[in-house]
Amino acid sequence: MKGFTTKAIHGQRSKPDAHGALRMPLYDTASFEHPSSREIELAFGGKRPSHVYTRISNPTIEDFEQKMRLISGGLAVLALSSGMAAISNLVMTLCEAGTNVVTSRHLFGNTVSLFEHSLKPWGLEVRYVDMTNLKEVEDAIDEKTRLVFLEVITNPQLEVADCKALSALTQSKGVPLGVDCTVTTPYLFNSKEFGVNVEVLSTTKYISGGATTVGGVLIDNGNFDWKKSPKLAEKAKKMGPMAFIATLRMEVYRNLGACLAPHNAYLQALGLETLGLRVDRSCENALALAKQLQNHPKVKRVLYPGLPEDRFHKLAKAQFGGRYGGIVCFELADKEACFTAMDRVKLIKRATNINDNKTMILHPASTTFIEYSEEEKAKMQVGEALIRLSVGIEDLEDLTEDLTQALET
Ligand SMILES: *Cc1c(COP(=O)(O)O)cnc(C)c1O
Repeated sequence: MKGFTTKAIHGQRSKPDAHGALRMPLYDTASFEHPSSREIELAFGGKRPSHVYTRISNPTIEDFEQKMRLISGGLAVLALSSGMAAISNLVMTLCEAGTNVVTSRHLFGNTVSLFEHSLKPWGLEVRYVDMTNLKEVEDAIDEKTRLVFLEVITNPQLEVADCKALSALTQSKGVPLGVDCTVTTPYLFNSKEFGVNVEVLSTTKYISGGATTVGGVLIDNGNFDWKKSPKLAEKAKKMGPMAFIATLRMEVYRNLGACLAPHNAYLQALGLETLGLRVDRSCENALALAKQLQNHPKVKRVLYPGLPEDRFHKLAKAQFGGRYGGIVCFELADKEACFTAMDRVKLIKRATNINDNKTMILHPASTTFIEYSEEEKAKMQVGEALIRLSVGIEDLEDLTEDLTQALET
């Protein structure tokens, strides 16, 4: 089994199904019975792999995790209730009071809120840097740094991270590199090949197959020596490379209770089967619309790493194999012009969320970034004239027609 989609569809069943069901059944149950006291003792002691309680593991969730492991080439995978749960579980597994995280000045809004409002009060220091400036990243890392965390393509700035260079740096400092690859997924970007240690995904986006459910995933690529991570050092002596995911499953993930619902795992595994087809279509549509927008007299500027003149084009081409994701941002004259165009779209949805099957349009400065001051927005490069388009898989002619009429005077 070599191909991405073949793996995503077939996976590898750990046990034959009692009824020969072709699709992994939905095990909607909280608990599992064991044949004897001895068997349940072995299960609780971690001596025999078996499901005991769905907050820790479940056959339907495990099937989704194993498919994610196969398509990513990672060592071990943990599925969680949301992308935010994946990020918070990652940080809480590696960091503690008095330590710091080095992260990007361009981050998903809820991730900033997680750091600023939920984790700082527990004594975590957060250092925001320009991830395109390696010297700045290097200077921010010290002996108390437990994680370097960033997004592979930031939103809405569409800044592409040079993961190979950042990985060489973090590796030399003995600090793990965690990258949120929600907008690329393992289909566009093999994070392991580029030295990422832990890949983070909000599976709510591309993977769910059309925004059916909220979910998240952590993928340990197996390329970081967890003995170098102070909180995991002791465990790594016994468990070796499995120390990270095992600590999550038997401690942080179990105790925080952010488990994925089996029903959601079922839908996400279903979405995964068509991931490649949908991402191809979304990227083709996005590139075509980016080119059309570039030639439109009302559009001042287009941000899309697929455009040859984009400042991240070469890097994106090398990392993502010739496809550039489904998010296109563009600038009009001012906020007024953005609102007018947005009010005129008929097919395209005025909504937040990205990488759905449906195309969506949003004005980030007045929505996802509304809680920030003008000064903060300027720092984050979220301008008043910027529109974000998350391009879906509709027929291109319909999207072109809708955007064209929306931009007319
Ligand atoms: C949506 C998103 C998240 C959060 O994921 P949820 O599943 O909504 O919790 C994190 N990072 C990025 C880049 C996202 O787009």
